[in-house]
Amino acid sequence: MRTVALEEHFSVPSLVRRISPEAIAKRGFGKRTMLPGRVNPVELLPELGDQRLASMDANGISVQVLSISGPGADLVDGAEGVAIARATNDHLAEAIARHPDRFQGFAHLPMREPEAAAAELTRTVTTLGFRGALINGMSEDRFLDDARYRSILAAAETLDVPIYLHPHLAPQAVRALYYSDLPANAGYVLEAAGWGWHAETALHVLRLVLAGTLDRHPRLKLIIGHMGEGLPAMLARCDQVSEAYVQHLSRPISRTILDQVWITTSGMFSQPPLLTALLTFGIDRILFSVDYPYASNEKGRAFLEALTLAPADVAKLAHGNADRLLKLTAAAP
Ligand code: ZN
Repeated sequence: MRTVALEEHFSVPSLVRRISPEAIAKRGFGKRTMLPGRVNPVELLPELGDQRLASMDANGISVQVLSISGPGADLVDGAEGVAIARATNDHLAEAIARHPDRFQGFAHLPMREPEAAAAELTRTVTTLGFRGALINGMSEDRFLDDARYRSILAAAETLDVPIYLHPHLAPQAVRALYYSDLPANAGYVLEAAGWGWHAETALHVLRLVLAGTLDRHPRLKLIIGHMGEGLPAMLARCDQVSEAYVQHLSRPISRTILDQVWITTSGMFSQPPLLTALLTFGIDRILFSVDYPYASNEKGRAFLEALTLAPADVAKLAHGNADRLLKLTAAAP
């Protein structure tokens, strides 16, 4: 069956080298701790050819929708940040052009220059055929409800493309308060994939609701990964406890999220969170993703094979929902 994966990553080391090592360290990037004998996924990021395609083929992944991972243009001010984002997107466009039936792309945006970021989103969608943008969490310690980002959100609405809101490392102040004073590398993983990334991304979505951002941009489509970053389990409580405090919005919190947010399975290959997502977001809003190379295509495929859903629902999750949301034209079975 055709299988589309949306949260699949790459990097361009020659462009990362244009970013100051001090800025990278300050944002919290560190060395990954690997168990003996395991391949560091960071080493797999730059490759956009035979090795990646072989893994996709071996695991029945028809299409990867690619996005940047690691330090990026959001760490660089001014024209150089814009230039790094453009070069990253042009690099991705070349990879897609080499394998147009296997790769699609989400734009990398120079978040420190919001007007230029909106223009770059427009360029990548209208001239490179990208399917939206992926934004890594906070930029300069600011969430997307900050007014300076309105032009980016408006551009996404006008272009009718989604923004994939991806986790990022915590700001320095949060790191110091929440994740310090723990043994060895435990704080590093708790801040990241062990909890913090997901909590922050869910918070980010809730801020976009509560700030009225999604009311102001009612056609904006957001995608979040990791089976909804915990939101499926929390929606009813968010509505219930906010009732007395939140009366400035046009819709209940959960309604806004269910209207404007799609979720993917990236890196979350177990049944309990899927069941919660099915009971809240429903099958039409859940899209398959792996999170390659941080999660393996093998585990993603095994998850799909083990699903006990109706075949039509498996098809929606594996490709139908993504084909519709991203307007992918391929019609392979
Ligand atoms: Zn990811």
